[in-house]
Amino acid sequence: MSIAKRISLIETSLTLAISAQAKAMKGQGINVIDFGAGEPDFDTPAYIKEAAEKAIEEGFTKYTPVSGTRELKEAIAEKFKNDNHLNYSPEEILVSCGAKHSIYNAIVSLCDEGDEVILPSPYWLSYPEMIKIAGASPVIIETDQENGFKITPEQLKRAITPKTKLFILNSPSNPTGAVYGKEELLPIREILVKTGIYCISDEIYEKIIYNGQKHTSLASLGQEINKLTITVNGVSKSYAMTGWRIGYAGGAEEIIQAMDTLQSHSTSNPASISQKAALAALKGPQKETEKMVAEFARRRDFIMEKLDSIKQISCLKPRGAFYLFANISKLKGKSFRGKIITDSVSLAAILLAETRVAAVPGKAFGADNYLRFSYATSLDNIEEGLKRIKQFIEQII
Ligand SMILES: *Cc1c(COP(=O)(O)O)cnc(C)c1O
Repeated sequence: MSIAKRISLIETSLTLAISAQAKAMKGQGINVIDFGAGEPDFDTPAYIKEAAEKAIEEGFTKYTPVSGTRELKEAIAEKFKNDNHLNYSPEEILVSCGAKHSIYNAIVSLCDEGDEVILPSPYWLSYPEMIKIAGASPVIIETDQENGFKITPEQLKRAITPKTKLFILNSPSNPTGAVYGKEELLPIREILVKTGIYCISDEIYEKIIYNGQKHTSLASLGQEINKLTITVNGVSKSYAMTGWRIGYAGGAEEIIQAMDTLQSHSTSNPASISQKAALAALKGPQKETEKMVAEFARRRDFIMEKLDSIKQISCLKPRGAFYLFANISKLKGKSFRGKIITDSVSLAAILLAETRVAAVPGKAFGADNYLRFSYATSLDNIEEGLKRIKQFIEQII
């Protein structure tokens, strides 16, 4: 067997091994508290499901234009205008099979062999692999708890070389929950515009943001940065629609056209029925989203409070998304019942085996001193999970 080099370079997901094991344990009836989830635990709101049922009944079950239906692209244009102060025409919008697909299309459409892509770490685990598939190389900028998991303009400047093509920004961030304010984006904009570097702004967690903060879209900060930025968003996280696979991108027509061509020869249009559901989500009442965010905020406060009582683990309060990125560096080199904690992967494995708590090792996000806990789970689960973790830590020597 000889697998293409392009694919054999990709890492198999570190997170998959732990979550597969957690799933298997649950299947055996073991009571696992799962903090691994990368999706809301809520059901898709009823009015969205009804729109999909109607689409099926009315026979809206055929191919649509590759880049999505006109009505959905118009609704997305409206959303961009109202929520983000972005003026994209429907020709500047592409609907894909999830935001992940839009990001993939953008990276593959923009990057040539040998190009460099600047990626702040901790990063969403698919970015580096997509960059490698495109034949480009990720150039990582490290951030940590002390700087709020945010890059400085100086770091960005230093990472730029003649080969730099693209920069990836993810705010609110998965896994850290960091949110870039407008004042932090302005100097980043200066650098990108001056050097002509493109940017993918992954804004999938835009709506999941706390304490009345305002989300700022990089592309809204002027005409020049607008032309360089591909703004990516979707319905997965905001409307509890991960399984429907609808994401979208806004950007300069030339780039969107290239992404459209790529999509036309790979997946064609995203599911027609899901497009109707996404249309209902965007045009419908936004109350369900607000309710979900309020619930996430409650859980965030609760899990922070519980975690604060464990002094071996420290954590910044997430400003957005639904993950807590906990610093576990003090546990490295210690052991639990004879098992040595060497890195975040071994810690996650021991935690699952010994206490039936699943979390994602930070190594998957380029940050081995951390574990990611998703609080897209009930308060009861959070309470029980943190109780188990506390007992676990007490036995570490
Ligand atoms: C979930 C997620 C996505 C992808 O969402 P889709 O389900 O593909 O729309 C993209 N970026 C980040 C950071 C995510 O966490």
